[in-house]
Amino acid sequence: MNTTLYVNATFHEHPDATAALARDGRWLAFGPREELAATQEAEGARSVDLGGGYALPGFIDAHTHLLMMGEALSKADLVAAAGLEEIIEGLAAARAAAPEAPRLLGRSWLFSQVPGGAPHRSMLDAAFPELPVYLDANDVHSAWLNTAALKEIGITANTPDPVGGRIGRDADGEPDGMLYETALHTYLWPAVAGFSTDELRVENLRRALQAYAATGVTGAVDMAVCEDEWRAMSQLLERDGRLPVRIVGHWLINRHEDPRVELDQVARAAELAAAGAAGPAGDWLRLAGIKIVSDGVVDACTAAVHSPYTDGSRPEAIWDLPGLRPVVRAADAAGLQIAIHAIGDAAVTGSLDALEELPEGHVRARRHRMEHLEVISEADVARIARLGIVASMQPVHADPAIQDNWRAMLGAPRIHRGYPWAEFQAAGVTLAFGTDAPTAPYEMLPNLYVAATRRSALDPSREALEPHLKVTLHDAVAHVTRDAAFASGLEGERGSLAPGQLADFVVLGRDPFASAHEELLDGTVLRTVVGAEDTFVA
Ligand SMILES: [Zn+2]
Repeated sequence: MNTTLYVNATFHEHPDATAALARDGRWLAFGPREELAATQEAEGARSVDLGGGYALPGFIDAHTHLLMMGEALSKADLVAAAGLEEIIEGLAAARAAAPEAPRLLGRSWLFSQVPGGAPHRSMLDAAFPELPVYLDANDVHSAWLNTAALKEIGITANTPDPVGGRIGRDADGEPDGMLYETALHTYLWPAVAGFSTDELRVENLRRALQAYAATGVTGAVDMAVCEDEWRAMSQLLERDGRLPVRIVGHWLINRHEDPRVELDQVARAAELAAAGAAGPAGDWLRLAGIKIVSDGVVDACTAAVHSPYTDGSRPEAIWDLPGLRPVVRAADAAGLQIAIHAIGDAAVTGSLDALEELPEGHVRARRHRMEHLEVISEADVARIARLGIVASMQPVHADPAIQDNWRAMLGAPRIHRGYPWAEFQAAGVTLAFGTDAPTAPYEMLPNLYVAATRRSALDPSREALEPHLKVTLHDAVAHVTRDAAFASGLEGERGSLAPGQLADFVVLGRDPFASAHEELLDGTVLRTVVGAEDTFVA
């Protein structure tokens, strides 16, 4: 038996507790220190001083991309560049730091940084005529390549646009350097994955999990697991016997012109889910279900909307109802949990149509969920409530510092109901919050700040946007702990400081509920603990 007595902290929702006792990685009791120290279980227990901090259940990021996040942490970060010139400067600095690298990888550029909002390979070619340059957009739904990179992955005027995606082209049909939506899945990611190795992937995954531990995260739901990710996760767990962050995965179902290929992917997910559910390994890593990306994003005008964007365009969803129906049915019949990315209101409606056709009660029982829900009709908020669908949303996506283009593309009145967290709460929908890293910063305290203020964590001097849609900090914390656990059907195991639950928690330097919200921006994580083992100590 392995017993730990945690002392010298305030424990969230245990006002009378000055100590907590854990045995074999799970909570036994919370109470007065003298009382717990005197119990039989505490005999021979090691005692850990929590430094007078405030203990919360460990944060669970309900929607993230771990391997991509680890890889992103090693790419040139362009989010703060003021314009094209600073993008090129940032890339030149990254090149100077790794002059021997065979290619240059960057991330997090914004359309608003580029002249006319129209990136072109020639803008990169001027500085990098020979070296392949690959730049992920901030939302990772498009990428900007120079001519050498297009050549390296074999994209030419003759390369066809994939279903649900597009290769940006000049008037003469030559690729212009931009790849959108499924063109990334089809052409870019497999090629870039080929540049990596299992060893590198395991290292990048470890890097992501350690970064998460330092921000108080103890659990994460990876929303686009494919073979490479699953292998890296399994190898890391096998190597270390445990993980710094418990992982729940959703298998990415790629759109394909042959529906049988889509159903094969569902079958693969079912196979992995069945294999991983039993045994103690499931406490660390499990495959819960599938992920379907039903549309794109607002910034690139690829999210499916009922009324056109301000530029007049109105794209279709990536998955129409006839395409969605068999995949949703097969996954549900296999007992898999379904997560559907739907950002535009038309994609939300279409996804709900497919989920609503499932047998009575399945949506609630399997805990099917929808991701993002940035633009949604009031009628569909009510429908999500009625069906019992979990709404998985990412406060950092609403950070005012990255909203200029989003708002310009949608225009009033839609922007006044963008990211309507408060409406979901009022309708009785379970909200699970995440960050969708690396499309947004992964740090959890700034994410909670945006949730509770609708102000910018990147630039706090900016005005709040649509503050009527914010939630209280208490609710925001519940959405990254209790509700995020519920979203994966694990509320009996995770998300609360309660006897019987896994001893996963974070200790903050001060009580966040007794401080100004601004203090979340430089809030200190003193310690992060998973299964009564430290994963981070400041
Ligand atoms: Zn995502």
